[in-house]
Amino acid sequence: MTKVINIGNEAKIGDGSFSIIGGPCAVENYAQMEKVGCFLNSLNIKFLRGGAFKPRTSPNSFQGLGFEGFKILKEIKEKYDFKVVSEVMDPRDVEKASEYIDIIQIGSRNMQNYVLLKEIGKTEKPVLLKRGMSSTIKEWIMAAEYIKKEGNENIILCERGIRTFEDYSRNTLDLVSVPIIKSKTDYPILVDPSHGTGRKELILPATKAALAIGADGVIIEVHPEPSKALSDGFQSLDFSQFKSLFNEIKKINELV
Ligand code: PEP
Ligand code: MN
Repeated sequence: MTKVINIGNEAKIGDGSFSIIGGPCAVENYAQMEKVGCFLNSLNIKFLRGGAFKPRTSPNSFQGLGFEGFKILKEIKEKYDFKVVSEVMDPRDVEKASEYIDIIQIGSRNMQNYVLLKEIGKTEKPVLLKRGMSSTIKEWIMAAEYIKKEGNENIILCERGIRTFEDYSRNTLDLVSVPIIKSKTDYPILVDPSHGTGRKELILPATKAALAIGADGVIIEVHPEPSKALSDGFQSLDFSQFKSLFNEIKKINELV
């Protein structure tokens, strides 16, 4: 049985509904987040993503706004009543981050950062634990165990694709991990078709597949102007693409 994770008083992940989390890869400025917030709110979406600490492959790429980004997220969260997901990379930031965001994301690159996992384990904050890009399902479950062992059981897993020889897509989205996780654990599991495919045209089919295979939801990158995004613009949907995905998924979801 999937454990229902309460996010604050009203929102839940793992309760049988298909949760949709939307937002840009990175928080860039207030105006950008306000546009995204207003748009997602118009679709009645409850969960907002946006990275303030960005683990970029190159140290010369935009690294995120840090706590300034968290402040922006909190303003938008309060304005539209969102639950906010954002990454924390440094164990020293965990406590302070908890004042701004609702779900702490542990990124793929930090899935085996045991100091970070233990620090988050000492809180009661919901955690979105992304699968390491080169991690087996067993290693991923063990990473969750590090959090749980410290007392925090508010864990949500996220399949975000793994490294294989295939290079057409950015990663290989291992969707069968969803039923495997369901059979081996009681954690809810989301799918990230944005990082999982790295290709806009694959995000809708991957989201449909995630729904069909039993995922508890998806986390999708959306940006007001993807071509100007400071990170991951190539895989970010614009508002109209996101809206048509949302409507299509809603239609299918109502049928099942
Ligand atoms: C992200 O969600 O923007 C991100 C960096 O994801 P991942 O850790 O899966 O690469
Ligand atoms: Mn990204």
